[in-house]
Amino acid sequence: PGLNLVNSDVLACCSPLNSQVSSLINGEYGHGAGQFQCSDCGKRYSYQSTLRRHVKLECGKTPQFYCDHCSYKTKRKCDLLRHYGTQHQVVVVDMKT
Ligand SMILES: [Zn+2]
Ligand SMILES: [Zn+2]
Repeated sequence: PGLNLVNSDVLACCSPLNSQVSSLINGEYGHGAGQFQCSDCGKRYSYQSTLRRHVKLECGKTPQFYCDHCSYKTKRKCDLLRHYGTQHQVVVVDMKT
């Protein structure tokens, strides 16, 4: 015994098991998705570039975009813009992108 190491940090936040289950539900697992796995949170991605973006921009980061109208917050700007539209019927015109 001794070689059967389990990363308790991974199991604590979003375990690989859970992401596999959700991938199964979403039908992503069947067609080759997820050969690149994040070593921090266990999320799987089809492309290394997508995984790199996740690690760089998403993984372990706190949300950077906050809604002015409620307590909603997200890591991704596009999610916030969509939130404005769906939850507050506000169309945000973003000049910078
Ligand atoms: Zn991750
Ligand atoms: Zn809101």
